[in-house]
Amino acid sequence: MNSQKLKEDALWYHAKGRPGKIEVKPTKETSNQRDLSLAYSPGVAEPCLEIVAAEEKVYDYTTKGNLVAVITNGTAVLGLGDIGPAASKPVMEGKCLLFKIYADIDAFDIELDTKNIDDFVKTVKILQPTFGAINLEDIAAPACFEIEERLRKELSIPVMHDDQHGTAICSAAALLNALDLSGKDISKIRLVVNGAGAAAIACIDLYVALGVDKSNITVFDKDGLLHTSRANLVPNQYKYVTDKFAEDWKLADALVGADVFLGLSVGNVVSQDMVKSMAADCIVFAMANPNPEITYEDAVAVRPDIIMATGRSDYPNQVNNVLGFPYIFRGALDVRATTINEAMKLAAVKALAALAKKTVPESVNMTYGETNLIFGRKYILPKPTDPRLLTTVAPAVALAAMESGVARTSITDWDDYDMKLTS
Ligand code: NAP
Ligand code: MG
Repeated sequence: MNSQKLKEDALWYHAKGRPGKIEVKPTKETSNQRDLSLAYSPGVAEPCLEIVAAEEKVYDYTTKGNLVAVITNGTAVLGLGDIGPAASKPVMEGKCLLFKIYADIDAFDIELDTKNIDDFVKTVKILQPTFGAINLEDIAAPACFEIEERLRKELSIPVMHDDQHGTAICSAAALLNALDLSGKDISKIRLVVNGAGAAAIACIDLYVALGVDKSNITVFDKDGLLHTSRANLVPNQYKYVTDKFAEDWKLADALVGADVFLGLSVGNVVSQDMVKSMAADCIVFAMANPNPEITYEDAVAVRPDIIMATGRSDYPNQVNNVLGFPYIFRGALDVRATTINEAMKLAAVKALAALAKKTVPESVNMTYGETNLIFGRKYILPKPTDPRLLTTVAPAVALAAMESGVARTSITDWDDYDMKLTS
């Protein structure tokens, strides 16, 4: 589609009918006076009193347990940057729509008009009673690190900044499968990362949790190598500084013989020569959007043995957060988890990686105009419309929450849960 046509279609789509993309609908009958006297006064006082007596009952009588807040301040929206809270609203409504269609989670978008971290944290904290979980979205680094860390400590419902952890979870699943295909041991790989922002740091944290040796990681940002001598870094970045190489060590130097390149920076900063210099069966995740660090065509042209992923849907192996967040929150909500912890994230990674190895349903092949999607270099992650994502990832996350002691309720009949998920 040409860009003028896309623009016209997108504006028409958003403006047609009732403007925007989501609405609120009653879930109970409201056809007569009796229904209304139950839904509102006087009947509504009864669930209120139950909740006063035992606060957990808010999950039994209200929407809380299926309601997520998608909260932003509009400071790092898509590739558009700091466009402000009002302009970020279409994106946040879009995220709510994805929660609904993939995992039947109701989500409200909340755009906060503040760049002040204390105000942001205080506001979300005050909103806590309404929601079952908080999805932080498109908040610029480094503020996003402190905001999430403080909210995770101060709130007793799950809080996840999807741009950090959703990306980490999906790309980590891709990494496990790529390593499997290349026959490499995660503890021995040399990883080079370009970008040290919200997504990159969360990815590195998770890769380390999966077994990558910290001393085999080299990270670059706009100013070059994350070297121990650097003074302009935030605490999260200091975790990955090195003194193994000179301060002026370049990305091209680091990539010689490297096993894995992770790009979460900007487009077109990696050359064909750099990719050529990597180790055999190199893994290249060039995930800057919309233009990757190196194009799929350019990378594949010089390395027939490459395993490559991007953030784009028009090439194989799209790392798309929609593979993760609907199902991670579904699993967390369904056991009333107090948080989304490392065990839950790792469970999501492993469930996603395992699903890519299973036979792909015909319906998924058809959606993507494929005849035979099969686990291999061009298919290391499930496709976003795969209906098995819901019944694979959500139970894995719920179980991990139960086993790691952060679930407030338990699922005992997993077949029944599976049926509920698909009904
Ligand atoms: P961010 O927090 O702004 O981080 C961007 C990082 O890239 C910063 O560390 C920045 O360095 C660095 N950078 C900028 N230009 C660079 C250059 N020429 N060389 C090396 N590093 C450079 O952004 P983010 O949210 O992490 O996202 C980063 C990119 O990944 C974006 O393109 C985003 O669209 C993409 N992304 C893709 C996915 C996906 O495919 N699923 C998910 C998340 C993000 P300074 O701090 O020095 O400026
Ligand atoms: Mg986002």
